Amino acid sequence: MPFLVVENLSTSYSTENGKVHAVQNVSFSMNAGESIGIAGESACGKSTLGLSIMRTLQGGTVESGRILLDGESILDMTDEEFARHFRWKKLSMVFQGAMNSLDPVYTIGQQFSDVLREHGHLQNHLNVMTAALRSVNLDPQVLKKYPHELSGGMKQRVVIAMALLLKPRLVIADEPTTALDVLVQSQILNLFKMLKKENTSFMLISHDLATISEICEKIGIMYGGRMVEFGSSEEIFEKPKHPYTQALIKSFPKLHSDQRPKYIPGSPPSLLNAEPGCRFIQRCPHAMEKCKKDPKTTKTDSGYVQCFLYE
Ligand code: SF4
Repeated sequence: MPFLVVENLSTSYSTENGKVHAVQNVSFSMNAGESIGIAGESACGKSTLGLSIMRTLQGGTVESGRILLDGESILDMTDEEFARHFRWKKLSMVFQGAMNSLDPVYTIGQQFSDVLREHGHLQNHLNVMTAALRSVNLDPQVLKKYPHELSGGMKQRVVIAMALLLKPRLVIADEPTTALDVLVQSQILNLFKMLKKENTSFMLISHDLATISEICEKIGIMYGGRMVEFGSSEEIFEKPKHPYTQALIKSFPKLHSDQRPKYIPGSPPSLLNAEPGCRFIQRCPHAMEKCKKDPKTTKTDSGYVQCFLYE
């Protein structure tokens, strides 16, 4: 059985203007030891997907669907059950911009200790904290430091170490390299590769396909709140099917090619009171009359695509 199964997950936010359908009927699975990348433009629902799985939605509601983690239905659990047995222990998250939310008035050691205490870990704090810091190549002396004494790259390693404190099998990392300089980005990616070898799986949420391709065996492409294509990294890059996936790949610069990146004309659809039909219809060069209905899911070699061109 896969380690994580997400089935027909829909999550929305209620606003005074109506419902924002941030995640609509998203399904995918990942096996233990695999890593998955979730890619797409800003506001396509990828962060909400991560927060729904982590059960840390602020103001949002999971409306329907199932999430099975290690065979157990986590949406059917009480908050207390999930916090006691799953959050941080089997599944943790590096939140977007987390390195900027380290508390400036406490040392890293105090902040790590708080996390351990909150999750019922009462003994051997120093050993656990030291091991977590060493796993991200940081000296345990960092425990005595305040956040302002650390560089951006060190702070990002600290929040990754914090996510690893209780040795979860899956870490959801939301834009973990955004706002870091190129050198530090590559250090963080190398760190993820090393942690993968030590059996930590990642769900890497990023707008940057190049970052995802370095780490992940599987990729889910999100557009307008839906996962429009899902498959192996190889298939997504070599034989992308959905017109949005194709356009997204062409929009990134390639190192060994003279081809200039092509931007995607138009802008993403609003998720407020989303209408039926393919969400890419306004920007798709292949749009047809029938695309005003919702495309069904069609199997591909390693996953699926939602587009009338393949039905
Ligand atoms: Fe384009 Fe239609 Fe496919 Fe949507 S369903 S991506 S509009 S061809």
